[in-house]
Amino acid sequence: MTRRTVTILGATGSIGVSTLDVIARHPQRYRVHALSAHTRMDRLAEQAAACRAAVVVVSDDAARDRFVQAWRGGAPMPEIRVGAQALVETAADPASDTVMAAIVGAAGLPSALAAARAGKRVLLANKEALVVAGRLFMDAVRESGAELLPIDSEHNAIFQCLPHGTRANGAQQSAPGVRRLLLTASGGPFRTRPLAELASVTPEQACAHPNWSMGRKISVDSATMLNKGLEVIEAHWLFSMPPDRIDVLIHPQSVVHSMVEYDDGSVLAQLGQPDMRTPIAYGLAFPERIAAGVGPLDLARLGRLDFEAPDFARFPCLRLAFEALRAGQGACVALNAANEVAVEAFLQGAAPYTAIAAIIDTVLQAQEQTGGRLDSLEGLLDLDREARMRAREALRRAAGA
Ligand code: NAD
Ligand code: MG
Repeated sequence: MTRRTVTILGATGSIGVSTLDVIARHPQRYRVHALSAHTRMDRLAEQAAACRAAVVVVSDDAARDRFVQAWRGGAPMPEIRVGAQALVETAADPASDTVMAAIVGAAGLPSALAAARAGKRVLLANKEALVVAGRLFMDAVRESGAELLPIDSEHNAIFQCLPHGTRANGAQQSAPGVRRLLLTASGGPFRTRPLAELASVTPEQACAHPNWSMGRKISVDSATMLNKGLEVIEAHWLFSMPPDRIDVLIHPQSVVHSMVEYDDGSVLAQLGQPDMRTPIAYGLAFPERIAAGVGPLDLARLGRLDFEAPDFARFPCLRLAFEALRAGQGACVALNAANEVAVEAFLQGAAPYTAIAAIIDTVLQAQEQTGGRLDSLEGLLDLDREARMRAREALRRAAGA
């Protein structure tokens, strides 16, 4: 058994913490090379000491100072690298063979792409990277021979249910014999709330997910179901599936994590408790299986599994995501950027929940000329910046109205 050396981008977040939990259960299998974080330097210092990381990457000099202040010893002080370029270089650092991409938002794209270009085993939690740069990212995976393993629970489930030996490697064809991908969604905290009340729901209510404990941005995305929309786009790129062969199914218990339907009528599903340590352990150990700290699934106690079709009137963001996918990469960049801006405003108390779909819609309508900018990271980030400006402008107009 070769010991893997792991770098965790976004170590202090929900996925980062779960990744370190799985790694700590298998010290003979995994060693941590580097950890990155944007905020919460106290937590980063604790993590780096506990796993004896050789390197930490932080966003700026102020964060570096806070990290040094928070350092309590117990292990050699790691090398501290600072800034966005250092993050990209660390993602490609030959000292590690496995990179967990768990930064939230398009901010995680450059480092995730760098890991893919460097031919790493890439454990991809950061779905926004594929939404913003699907083609570029999958081309990088194919060209470098990187081993891309989806961590998002739905895509991890689909990966497990696809024909043995199928890889998410940027091949142009979907797996033979596959008819449809069925992405399940919990429906979030507002699945049954009267529509008239949605304008006044709070960030705390939106972040109180019924089944999963996650970062705040993805929690809001789950409430609006824009998260499922991002996941449809993610599935399109990972598994080379056209949009009309990806379906979304509401399943409030979050036990069936997703399904693959075959031409012969068979439907394969992956089930498990809603705990991200399962897909993380799968990605770390692939193709082997290791303990993740997740207990057995007690189906008798659960008693039933429910399914229903999503309601696009309740979840307009899901419809907008399908439209963006059909419109093309530029629209997907705009969708994601507008959502990030609108969700941040909602979390800050500066916009109502219902503004999220409205802002995305406005920014998609004003879809700019992409003019050859879809083929490079710089071009895509440029489009992302423009869409963010439009979203902020739309927010200002909405606030003034
Ligand atoms: P989180 O907010 O809990 O953590 C985000 C991490 O990214 C933190 O370490 C933070 O310091 C870092 N970060 C934030 N902004 C940054 C920036 N500008 N530059 C560098 N680093 C930055 O988020 P999370 O819930 O762990 O989600 C991480 C990613 O995984 C997201 O893309 C999310 O969609 C995806 N994901 C999460 C879950 C989950 O259960 N939490 C499930 C599936 C997919
Ligand atoms: Mg998911």
